[in-house]
Amino acid sequence: MTDRYAVIGNPIAHSRSPDIHAQFAAQTGQQIRYERLLAPLDGFVAAVDAFRAAGGRGLNVTVPFKLQACDYADRLSPRARAAGAVNTLVFGSDGVEGDNTDGVGMVRDIAGRHHTVLDGLRVLLVGAGGAARGVLFPLLQAGVAAVLIVNRTPDKARALALASADSRVAGCGFDELDKAGRFDLLVNATSAGLDDAAPPLPTSCYANARLAYDMVYGARPTPFMQIARSHGCAMSCDGLGMLVEQAAESFRIWRGVMPETEPVYQQLRQTLVAG
Ligand code: NDP
Repeated sequence: MTDRYAVIGNPIAHSRSPDIHAQFAAQTGQQIRYERLLAPLDGFVAAVDAFRAAGGRGLNVTVPFKLQACDYADRLSPRARAAGAVNTLVFGSDGVEGDNTDGVGMVRDIAGRHHTVLDGLRVLLVGAGGAARGVLFPLLQAGVAAVLIVNRTPDKARALALASADSRVAGCGFDELDKAGRFDLLVNATSAGLDDAAPPLPTSCYANARLAYDMVYGARPTPFMQIARSHGCAMSCDGLGMLVEQAAESFRIWRGVMPETEPVYQQLRQTLVAG
């Protein structure tokens, strides 16, 4: 019997996850079917219940359902609990397990594909939404020296810093950044890039940084990447690698085998560039 998986969201037509998981399955010889599942905005629980009743084994969860997926799960992994958000559900005979692979995906991409050791780095985390929440705990686990969270709505940044209960983390608004000192790693976890814009960082933040990491990805360097490079940041990259790495971790959780990510990343990059 072929095991069924899907990515659930709204909208969902743009999702590249079915292509990624089809490549992982072919590579590892796993018999799975992986679909897109469009749930009504007010119909997440009903859609998940129906998928489970039809024999579904697991789901990836994307915008806007990651918080509802957290509530749906019977048990949470430590990283899902820390994030307060779930992007991977596992349906077992003993209930529903919720996990969050976004953060470990980004950390693996930074360390492996972009050859940047996180231990001891000073990080500016831009944004305080679901994606920022997902990466904060894995960044701290990777040994960064400090994380300053900056957000358009400063109170959300401060609340996230407080919730981390970690003395290395602080939160602020963009107008407080001038006095914040220098950073080694800048992570753009805002959705500004979806409107072809960059978050309003003072240019001094980019000077001498080692890596500017944009979670958004596309055919061309994002505005955040372009500004970072033109103001003295040594390296910049988009979030395509994070997308592939978080998917690989979900696949490992479901199937017990870790796929190779590099060929899949290269194929997706070529497809993106070719338009
Ligand atoms: P949320 O809607 O939860 O949060 C959006 C964040 O962006 C908030 O902090 C919001 O600030 C901020 N923001 C939005 N517009 C602007 C702007 N114009 N200027 C400054 N800040 C802005 O989204 P997510 O956290 O779920 O996702 C963020 C991004 O990360 C998305 O673009 C998503 O595609 C990407 N992502 C990529 C992944 C990958 O695998 N590559 C995985 C997960 C996410 P405020 O609080 O003030 O509203």
